[in-house]
Amino acid sequence: MQIHTKAVHSGDRKKPGPHTPSTTPIHTATSYFYDSMSKLDRIFGGDEAGFSYARFDNPSAAALEELCASLENGAAALACASGMAALHTAILAALTDRPKSIVAASALYGQTVTLLMNVLSPLGIEVRFADACDPDAMRAAVAEARPGCVFIESISNPLLRVAPLDSIARIAREAGAALVVDHTFATPLLARPLDLGAHFSVHSLTKFLAGHGDVLGGIVVTDAAHAPVLRALGRNVGPVLGPFECYLAMRGIKTFPLRMERQCANAGKVAEWLAGQARVARVYYPGDTAHPDAATVARLFPAGMSGAMVSFEIRDGGREEVFGFMDSLKLIVRATSLGDVHSMMLYPVMSSHRDLSPKHRQRMGIGENLVRLSVGIEAAEDIIGDLAQALG
Ligand SMILES: *Cc1c(COP(=O)(O)O)cnc(C)c1O
Repeated sequence: MQIHTKAVHSGDRKKPGPHTPSTTPIHTATSYFYDSMSKLDRIFGGDEAGFSYARFDNPSAAALEELCASLENGAAALACASGMAALHTAILAALTDRPKSIVAASALYGQTVTLLMNVLSPLGIEVRFADACDPDAMRAAVAEARPGCVFIESISNPLLRVAPLDSIARIAREAGAALVVDHTFATPLLARPLDLGAHFSVHSLTKFLAGHGDVLGGIVVTDAAHAPVLRALGRNVGPVLGPFECYLAMRGIKTFPLRMERQCANAGKVAEWLAGQARVARVYYPGDTAHPDAATVARLFPAGMSGAMVSFEIRDGGREEVFGFMDSLKLIVRATSLGDVHSMMLYPVMSSHRDLSPKHRQRMGIGENLVRLSVGIEAAEDIIGDLAQALG
């Protein structure tokens, strides 16, 4: 079944009966009643499928989880309260029964670096970094660290490098490590990490999947081998997503492939236009034929689809020029986050990479003149018109 069809149908109408709701309702009950203790006993014991307590599972969460597992060709999923909760849970699941050591990509979402360094490292988990777009560097780091987990983003933030998921999966598997991929920027429309050899594909549902800027959530999708440990962590740690949020995320996902196609197409037009502007010094866009990972993009992503993110540098600009430019935007929303139906712009130096020193940022290639645009579903000419008037 194609992803557009799965997005609309998977997870709904699980138990057809005389009055089956055509879409999954919001199940608010925290516990479930059965007509006999022996049946409840079998359900608690896992001998019979059924719901017992909302932290264990819940019909609204189960529907969303089935939907996300289906989009990623996974065996199971766990809906979590945020993308960060999902990443944390995936890493814990990956490290169960494996060496407590992680090799992570050097370019990561800011909070993920903090999770690794300020939360996991103090617990005695060894963390080291390597360039995810350089398989030789990754192989060397993995050979040295013998980690239990390799952690990468399929499209990095904010410079939009694209990791060779297939090569990294081979390196991880040969070393007995589990590969966890933060797939938030690329989405299951561009690639399915589990099909390419990853063990866990994680999303901030908050972004493209839910897509309307009105719900925080995360999802971990995994294979059959890791499904029990993921489910157990959901029960024992309790990072689970509430039923209202599950409903909103599921409603959003039904139109996700359509929105993402439009956003990718718009991003291509915006990137091309930006490249011709005198005030724009440099454009970062994975669909660019001169992009450093163009070969990976061509191999892993469908033709013409390279994501909906475009970063660019204002020529001879600093903080003041960037503030002036962003304050002049009339349509594009100045806000943290991405993947919504509306276009949004963020200044990495001020937000996602604020806690790093200017020197560290410079080393990462994140200049004072860099902005990151998440392209929405508006008419491309209106997005371009807004950028044109703000660039002046
Ligand atoms: C937003 C984001 C996260 C964190 O997700 P939340 O839902 O905000 O907790 C993690 N990784 C990436 C790439 C993100 O964009």
